[in-house]
Amino acid sequence: MAQEDVFKKIVSHCKEYGFVFPSSDIYDGLAAVYDYGQNGVELKNNIKQYWWQSMVLLHNNIVGIDSAIFMHPTTWKASGHVDAFNDPLIDNRDSKKRYRADVLIEDQLAKYEEKMDKEVAKAAKKFGDSFDEAKFRETNPRVLENQRKHDELHARFAEAMESNNLEELKQIIIDEGIVCPISGSKNWTDVRQFNLMFSTEIGASADSASKIYLRPETAQGIFVNFLNVQKTGRMKLPFGIAQIGKAFRNEIVARQFVFRMREFEQMEMQFFCQPGTEMEWFNYWKQYRLAWHQALGMGNDNYRYHDHEKLAHYANAATDIEFRMPFGFKEVEGIHSRTDFDLSQHEKYSGRQIKYFDPERNENYTPYVVETSIGVDRMFLTVMCHSYTEEQLENGSTRVVLRLPEPLAPVKCAVLPLVNKDGLPEKAQEIVNDLKFHFNTTIEAKDTIGKRYRRQDAIGTPFCVTVDGDTLNDNCVTLRHRDTMEQERVPIAKLREIIEDRVSITSVLKKLDVK
Ligand code: ATP
Repeated sequence: MAQEDVFKKIVSHCKEYGFVFPSSDIYDGLAAVYDYGQNGVELKNNIKQYWWQSMVLLHNNIVGIDSAIFMHPTTWKASGHVDAFNDPLIDNRDSKKRYRADVLIEDQLAKYEEKMDKEVAKAAKKFGDSFDEAKFRETNPRVLENQRKHDELHARFAEAMESNNLEELKQIIIDEGIVCPISGSKNWTDVRQFNLMFSTEIGASADSASKIYLRPETAQGIFVNFLNVQKTGRMKLPFGIAQIGKAFRNEIVARQFVFRMREFEQMEMQFFCQPGTEMEWFNYWKQYRLAWHQALGMGNDNYRYHDHEKLAHYANAATDIEFRMPFGFKEVEGIHSRTDFDLSQHEKYSGRQIKYFDPERNENYTPYVVETSIGVDRMFLTVMCHSYTEEQLENGSTRVVLRLPEPLAPVKCAVLPLVNKDGLPEKAQEIVNDLKFHFNTTIEAKDTIGKRYRRQDAIGTPFCVTVDGDTLNDNCVTLRHRDTMEQERVPIAKLREIIEDRVSITSVLKKLDVK
């Protein structure tokens, strides 16, 4: 099945099974805004819990906060968002569609890469074991020609972005012959800058009203609270502050479901350290965050680092963790070494001294910061993309199963009375009443057992427990495993232990190796 079709199926599965709905669905939705349904919210909460615990529980020197979405407007002057949080946009006059100019050019770069990869794949097939890829890339004229075009475009693009040269961005689009994917035409407008922050007004009357912003990232709430937390928590460097919360960006191109939203949620941690030690911490967090993803067991090959060549002026290292989505490897998380930029900026704009007194060195200085920043919704999407499976069964039928990492599953255990009479529903309820204190357990009595299994498979429930006539005598039930569909007879008294071992967040946290 084409990857695009897979993605469409995932989107409709999310709606059909109560994971994600378009926002204000009865009014035909709102572009790039989504609501999480009864199963989606559970999965999302589990992701957040896994992240929070890996930060705050496993690291003695990390604490959390929950800062407000509204912040003093000067915050965004200091952070650079008012002046520089812009995307270059361009419209196609024929389709009336709006694009990010930088993304159009990046797609063109990817096309050159694809062409080269195709040549390589063709040759690899032809030459078999004796194929030397490095040599081929160095000598094949078609590969070399595409590499040259790619490198020239890359250099020109980087320079235009660096110098904020909007005319040059448009010229690149024209020179490369980039067409609108919808209209197929080259009828482009000029490139304009567009600030991604949403603004609104605070205050009761128009006179006292003042423009404020919905935060475009949670990080600034951490920076402005650095001194509050450090002093009240008597924190010593190095230490971190973690936060989970909503962020808002007026994204120009809203596509790809919850990958790029206008209202989304971030999990960010700012790690404050001594200047000079930041690279050590950057490397620690780079490795730790990848380990966090990999501990979920979604295939180590599905992740890669993408180190930034072009750094923001204040950063001295940056990398993304990318995941293989149906539409290619895409950023899920960023890890950035931000030097003392943010704290120094807030010191400058607020007029307050924001420094750390180091008792060992007996001096004041501005700490350096390493940030880890991941979108909850993007993480949710990686989990969905990895888990959605259509399986051909021996009897010729197809089973749709969500192979969710078990600790993230919305429902951990479904208890199913074989028939809806003869005391079986009561027995099933008894089991639920016991298990519900330990993990999310549900009871389902309607429909045939086969249909009920399928419904639970479709929402990724790792365990189904079937209560039958014998249960009333021997206090044993049939435990069915989602992925293998294997069934085993187990005593009710053992259920909690067997299931909890596999579904608790603790079981994944234990895989993380903490320094
Ligand atoms: P992109 O290049 O995809 O726009 P970014 O580099 O601007 O992302 P950051 O500002 O580093 O993203 O934000 C950190 C994380 O927040 C991203 O890795 C992503 O997971 C998430 N994120 C950012 N923008 C969005 C969005 N519009 N919708 C959903 N998640 C987002």
